[in-house]
Amino acid sequence: MTEPLVLIAGGGIGGMALALTLHQIGVRCKVFESVRELKPLGVGINIQPNAVRELFDLGITADMLDKVGVPAREWALVGRNGQEIYAEPRGLEAGYNWPQYAVHRGELHMLLYETFRARAGEEAVILGAKVTGYRKNPDGTVTALLRHADGSSSEETGTLLIGADGIHSAVRAQMHPDQPPIHWGGAVMWRGTAMAKPVRTGSSFIGLGSHRHRMVIYPISPVDPQTGLARINWIAEVTYDDISKRDATGWFRQVEVEDFFHHFSDWTYDWMDVPALLRGADVAYENPMIDRDPVDTWVDGPVALMGDAAHAMYPTGSNGASQAIIDARTLGVMMLAHGVTPEALAAFDEKLCGPVSQLILRNRGAGPFGLLNMVDERCGGDFDNIDDVIPPEERASFMGAYKAAAGFAKDALNAAPRMIAEGVRVPAPAPVSAPV
Ligand SMILES: Cc1cc2nc3c(=O)[nH]c(=O)nc-3n(C[C@H](O)[C@H](O)[C@H](O)COP(=O)(O)OP(=O)(O)OC[C@H]3O[C@@H](n4cnc5c(N)ncnc54)[C@H](O)[C@@H]3O)c2cc1C
Repeated sequence: MTEPLVLIAGGGIGGMALALTLHQIGVRCKVFESVRELKPLGVGINIQPNAVRELFDLGITADMLDKVGVPAREWALVGRNGQEIYAEPRGLEAGYNWPQYAVHRGELHMLLYETFRARAGEEAVILGAKVTGYRKNPDGTVTALLRHADGSSSEETGTLLIGADGIHSAVRAQMHPDQPPIHWGGAVMWRGTAMAKPVRTGSSFIGLGSHRHRMVIYPISPVDPQTGLARINWIAEVTYDDISKRDATGWFRQVEVEDFFHHFSDWTYDWMDVPALLRGADVAYENPMIDRDPVDTWVDGPVALMGDAAHAMYPTGSNGASQAIIDARTLGVMMLAHGVTPEALAAFDEKLCGPVSQLILRNRGAGPFGLLNMVDERCGGDFDNIDDVIPPEERASFMGAYKAAAGFAKDALNAAPRMIAEGVRVPAPAPVSAPV
């Protein structure tokens, strides 16, 4: 029998985490990435402790992560009136055995890509190769259909195909031809970064405003000792009632700060100057907050979906990239248990598709920002003492339920053994004995 080969469609954070995992457990893989050149695109994202743990187990060290981001210390919600609604420590400060990281999405992506290429060789990632679909073969293998940047087409056959090709996944489109179009609930995000002085703990994630009109602000670099400034990621967000007026299909369109500045022009506090932060951006992007309706399975025989291809979700819970990393590790776990087989994919589907689909719907309902909805509903955002609006126990129980559902409950994570033990490898298939 020939050595198994896993084909991966898409070399984003999910595809690279899977490629690194397969390399670690001794499974051959090839990554097909549609763009001709990978660049450090995007702005800030959070990597939750459960996913940081997996990066550490992949040999991505704290020193490496410190070059692309900063450990997060606090998560806080603040009302439009500038008063605190909820705050809790995060990462190591919260008692997790692993930090939470706020990173630059593109720089983390490049770190994973370069690490994989250094370990597996340049030829393991094929750039400018778009997977347009797949064919399941009678012998149980699968063929990925490829279109190259030069206009040519080719095919590649492997044991399994994993669609890590993002929210517009071609693999998913073939697996679920009747899926509804991308879902948009009316929220638009403008994103950017600016150099500014960090507030609160110096590494706090701050959700400021109401659930339909808010800023999310957090640093993604350490403070420069010379200037006292850090790179601050900001997301300015407004929810529109009439969604027919806007185009919800764009993704990362570059815009001018002037286009949306008026929504936040008077958001000035003694501890935070939002207009100055927006004006300080080198570049700003607009993208609608979109996701996809959950599907009942991510698997079609030797083909599986992972990452945004499986479960694109609103970024309100900061768990899109973290879940993509957990998907990759779970696929590795299942291949260790079942070999490089469709059974491994079925076990992956069984474990994650149901609960993560619930998370998609939970994030649609505002995710952990749900506390802002409650404040709006109960007092219209006007309060002196938050305890009179939502008692502390109710705030704590709301957040506890969210974190348990999102898979980053602290005690369970700290007590859990490694997902993939050090040094384990998928056994090579037994050689076919020659006929006597
Ligand atoms: C350019 C870019 C910028 C982003 N910026 C942010 C951000 O600032 N904040 C945030 O919260 N999230 C951002 N995201 C989304 C975030 O990275 C994901 O939600 C999360 O990391 C899960 O990653 P993924 O690997 O499943 O999908 P993605 O990160 O979307 O990666 C998918 C990869 O597959 C490639 N691809 C797509 N179709 C095909 C195909 N048919 N064949 C082969 N390759 C294909 C894409 O080029 C991409 O590299 C961004 C995504 C991209 C692609």
